[in-house]
Parts: sequence; structure tokens; C-alpha cells
Amino acid sequence: MVPAKLILQEAWATEANWDLPLPDELQSRFSAWYHGLSCISQLKFERRIGYGKETPGHYIFSVMPKVTIPRLELLACVLGSRLAKYVVTALSLREVPTYYWTDATVALCWIQREENWGVFVNNRVKEIRSLSKKEYWRHIPGKLNPADIASRGCTLQHLSQYGWWEGPEFLKASPEAWPKSEFSPNEELIAAEMKKKIIVDLSVKIEKPEWFERFSSFSKIVRVFCWMIRFEKENSVHGLQVVRGDDDVLRVKTRIIERDDDLSFLYPILLPSKHYLTECLIREYHLKYCHAGVQILAAKLRLQYWIFSSKRNIRSCVSRCVVCKRFTAKALTTPPIQLPLDRKAKATCQELKVGDIVLIELENKKRVMWPMGKIEKIYSSRDGASRVVQVRTSSGCLTRPIQNFTRWRCQLLEILYSP
Ligand SMILES: [Zn+2]
Repeated sequence: MVPAKLILQEAWATEANWDLPLPDELQSRFSAWYHGLSCISQLKFERRIGYGKETPGHYIFSVMPKVTIPRLELLACVLGSRLAKYVVTALSLREVPTYYWTDATVALCWIQREENWGVFVNNRVKEIRSLSKKEYWRHIPGKLNPADIASRGCTLQHLSQYGWWEGPEFLKASPEAWPKSEFSPNEELIAAEMKKKIIVDLSVKIEKPEWFERFSSFSKIVRVFCWMIRFEKENSVHGLQVVRGDDDVLRVKTRIIERDDDLSFLYPILLPSKHYLTECLIREYHLKYCHAGVQILAAKLRLQYWIFSSKRNIRSCVSRCVVCKRFTAKALTTPPIQLPLDRKAKATCQELKVGDIVLIELENKKRVMWPMGKIEKIYSSRDGASRVVQVRTSSGCLTRPIQNFTRWRCQLLEILYSP
């Protein structure tokens, strides 16, 4: 059947229509196969009940592009081990050692080697190992492999002479005499099915340190920096009276030095605007004073420092604080939708009628203290809605807007008040 299947496969590959004749070459091969079928009556083999050595078959007819040949061979090994398991169970041969022969060197290495294989191979190898012992898997050289006939195909005459159902001759000999073939598998194909590993680059990019990282003391950095801006950016200092303190730090001579106050407040340390260190300082103060706002920070910093455009610096620093951002963020709101017309038309505050007992709402008193009254008259406005109500209370008569009354729901009181 194999040559016929191969002819059929090739016929499909020509993509010819059903009603078109086949190419001459295929036709002649088909007729040769067809005439060979007459020998089938001469083909005889005995039906046996017993056990033999299973050999996994090699039926590779697939034209699926993604499945590689080694993978298909591995699938054949899966089929072989399933078949062997089936035979062993059906014939109750559990005590008999079962050997598995394949000429697929790559699949054999996958089965026998203890590695982390990819999902496809790993799942199949796991199944094979659950059905068979990996030590019982053997390599069979191509020329001794009886399964080769199945995948290549042969004539009936050849099949009858070969005695395919007998298996290879060497199996009849003792295991010591079995072929021990040395094979060199394609390591590239084997490694192609290794589990993909994620390689993490742990190398750290070391940036060139800033000049101020050479100084450990904050005040020393400030001192050096102030000297720098004094010489480099004299314009920035322009307009301020800058003096050098006893500690070599540049300080601003403010106009309030006559005040009796802390010296650092009268002579604050000069700090540049938009600098990493200034930002660090502001951030430190911001955290120190529990995420204080711009005004408080400006005041607190001013006690010791004079920062150029301090408010702007502080504001930008605070605006970048994640914690503050979370608390000051505005909730996403949508404008309220318009009420449907039928609900709008009925929207009177409450429907009161003459004779109702009401509570007179007083803003400065609790609800239980509100006086009670009985409606004597309701004044309607021009549009027909009730607007103003005249109420009789225990102490007299009141005329108030209708919103100021809450209806009393107890019927008993109504009876008591009724004339
Ligand atoms: Zn904050």
C-alpha cells in the first residue's frame, strides 16, 4: 500500500482536477503497481499468537510545514511505546522486558538525555518515559531497519521474499549479539528543542560621577558651588549683596540685619536655582515637614537658605512628589445628566393641603424641638404651584414659604388638631 499512497500523495501535489488525466510518469507507475497486485495471492503469512519485539514504525506522509522531521520521528516513538504498552497489556506480558528500536537519532537523544526540553518535546518524552524505560530504547542502523520498507515502500515480490513480519534477523540472536551502533546525532537539532531560557543582562551602566560626588559634606559642596556661581554666573548674584561668612560660605546680606534674629535668617546661604542639590534639599524639607506645601516650605527654607526663584523651584519639586499628587488629584467627574421631562414636571418639593399637620423647620433647633402647626391656607403662584403656606400654631399664626414645612405623618395628631 505504501507505493500507492506515495503515488496518491504525488498526484495531490500536481493539483490536477478530478476529470483531468494524470501525468504519464504517474500513470505508468500506477499501472505497474496495479499489475503487481496479481501476486498478492502468493503472499502468505501465518497468524501468530505470542509475543515478539516491537519496532516503532516510520510513517511520514505529513506535509505540515511546521512539524520538523525529528518531531515527527518522536511522535512515531510515542506511537511505538503506546502500541507496545497495548500489546503488553493485552497479552499480559508484564514480566517480559520490552525493547524499543528506532533509527531516529535525535528523538533517541531526547528520550535518553536528562535535559529541560521545550514544551512539545518535553510532553512527548514524558509520555514515552511513563510507558517505557529509557534504557530499553536502542538505535537500529538504517540498513537493518525493517521499518524502512514501510516508509519507502516496495513491490509485493520483494515483500514476500523479505519476510517483513518476521522482523530483522538479529532479533533472533541473544541480546549480546544485537548491533551496537555508534551514531553521531545532529547536536544542533537536539539543542533546537531545549527550553528557551531568558537571559537577563545584569551589567550596570556606571555613569561618570558628578564633580560634587567627590565631597561628602553637604555644606562643603554648597561652599564650592557658591564659589563657582560667583565666578561663572555673576549676573545671577547681581542685585544681591553677597558676603563671605566666617565659615567660607557665601551668604546673602539681607536688608533686615538690624533685626534681632537668628544670624542664619539674616544672612541666609545662597543656593542656585534648578540644581540637583537644591532639589535634594527642597525634597528633604518637603518630607521633613510632612509633605508641606509651597508657602510653608518657602518659609522654612528661608530661615537658612536663599534660593534663586525659590517659589518656582519649590513648586516644581512639590508637583513631582508622587504622594502629594495622589492626594491632590481631582476625581474624575462628569456633568450631571438632565432629568427626563416626566420627572421634571412632577418636581414639586412636597404636596401639602389645607388641614395637614406640619413641622416648622427651624435652622437653629434640632428636629425634635421644631414646633407643630396646622395648615390653614395655601397661596398658589401664577403658574398654579403652591408657594406660600399659612399655618396655625399653639402660639399664633405663621406665613412661610412651603419649603420650610415638613409634613407630620402621624394621623392621631391630625385628629387631635381637628376642630
Ligand atoms: Zn509630597
